[in-house]
Parts: sequence; C-alpha cells; structure tokens
Amino acid sequence: MSDTLFAKIIRRDIPADIVYEDDEVLAFRDINPQAPVHVLFVPKRPIATLNDVGEADAALLGKLVLAAARWAKQQGFAERGYRCVLNCNRDGGQTVFHLHLHLLAGRAMQWPPG
Ligand code: 5GP
Repeated sequence: MSDTLFAKIIRRDIPADIVYEDDEVLAFRDINPQAPVHVLFVPKRPIATLNDVGEADAALLGKLVLAAARWAKQQGFAERGYRCVLNCNRDGGQTVFHLHLHLLAGRAMQWPPG
C-alpha cells in the first residue's frame, strides 16, 4: 500500500487536530467537517479499503468501532445520537485509501444519504 495522507498524520509528518489515540487507533478532526463534530478514526496499521479487511483484522475493526463509540459517550453526545460511516472505493465516496471511520455528530442526520 502506498504512503497516504493518513499514514503521514499517524507519523506526525503532517499536523492534525488529534482527539484520541491508543496503541492501534488514532482519531483526528476532519479538515472539511460535514457536521459540528466530524472525527476520523483510523487504524494505525495501513489497510486501504474495507475490501482489504480479512479475518485477521476482525479485532482491529472491532477496536476501531469501539474507540468511536467510547469517545462519543465521553464527549456526551452518545444518547442524542451520531453517525458512523465507512466509505469504500469510488461509488462509496472514498478519497483517502487508508481505512477510516467517519464519526459525525452535533446535528440531525438525513436518511437516505446523498
Ligand atoms: P473519504 O472521502 O476517503 O471517506 O474521507 C476522507 C476525509 O479526509 C474527507 O472527509 C476529507 O475532508 C478528509 N481529509 C482530507 N485531507 C485531510 C487532511 O489533510 N487532514 C484532515 N484532518 N482531514 C483530511
């Protein structure tokens, strides 16, 4: 997998507004927020897309989702609600090919999405 923008953020080569970190996950605010809260949860291990996730990555994916859910609770908006999104490839709207989970909150979300 080629070096991505998010790999550079993980290495601190590029600055980002980091809100959460553990051994396997980094979370930082999206540069172009689509909601009052828009944070990207990224596994430190580079995986390009959801299509590249295998059985060996199951625990890591679980940790990614749990980190987002715990952070939402900690921030106090979990009860009100939020949305988690994983975009995959062109039709999914993926632009950065390092797997990431968008956590959006702070406004009512529409469904279906555009
Ligand atoms: P995707 O479209 O791949 O699901 O999401 C990529 C996200 O990365 C977009 O929401 C975009 O705004 C965000 N993004 C792109 N470049 C940067 C950057 O340099 N810093 C941060 N924090 N977010 C970025």
